[in-house]
Amino acid sequence: MKAPLFFNLFLLITSIISQSVSAQNCLTAIDSARYQYELANPQSFKLHSIDQNKRVFHIRVFLFADKNGDYGITDLVIAESFSQLNTDFLPAGISFELTQTDSIEYCQYSQFAFPDELRELKVLYYKAGIINLFLVDEITSSLGNPLNEGYTEYPGGDDLIIIPKDFMADHGLSHQMGHFFGLYHTWETIFGTELPDSSNCPTAGDRLCDTPADSIVPISTGCNPTLATWPNGVGFAPPISNQMSNWPDCRCRFTIQQYNKMAWESRVTRKYLW
Ligand SMILES: [Zn+2]
Repeated sequence: MKAPLFFNLFLLITSIISQSVSAQNCLTAIDSARYQYELANPQSFKLHSIDQNKRVFHIRVFLFADKNGDYGITDLVIAESFSQLNTDFLPAGISFELTQTDSIEYCQYSQFAFPDELRELKVLYYKAGIINLFLVDEITSSLGNPLNEGYTEYPGGDDLIIIPKDFMADHGLSHQMGHFFGLYHTWETIFGTELPDSSNCPTAGDRLCDTPADSIVPISTGCNPTLATWPNGVGFAPPISNQMSNWPDCRCRFTIQQYNKMAWESRVTRKYLW
């Protein structure tokens, strides 16, 4: 019984530390409705045959200028981000098309205050029946972290992603789109904390067993897994290359079970979009 107690104490400490570490921070979080839905509908976590017939999702971009009228991102960078997004989602039978870009001179949302301005952003710009992608310069939050990498609503919420322009490249858009199709962080704890040996993987962490337990303390730079070791000496190989990992500089791939869950969500909870 000593090991679990020690383990839980470690998790509490690292959780507290994580609030003060200046690192890349994702604002996408599970609300109670989504949590209850997942508990009541476990079929999305089961392996299904992935339907490779393309499901095409359309995206409308809302690009906000800063106070100087600078849009801060080129059409080429946006196009490259979409190309990378389509490559990343190809095995899930999901593809994306950019339908139009609205360049908005109004600089109110260049520095987007989360969650305070979320409601008015939706009232002013949100369009039904399409994925709304809002590109801002920075997302500020009450936590005071200057490196908030994005916010996305899970299935059951609105069809919305907010992402700072600097995070569009290097799979940042794929990370948020992973949330859009029902993926959780590999270090998620709302379902329970995944043990380093993954013995509780079906019911804890992100509830997918081909994504190992991840470091809860945010790690913003470097891809050296030797930095992430549990103090009790349990062997620990965090999924540093995973798109949903806590290793943002190293993200580049999804796993089979992640593709499977996203394919399921695209055919069921997000079906109205294609
Ligand atoms: Zn995230």
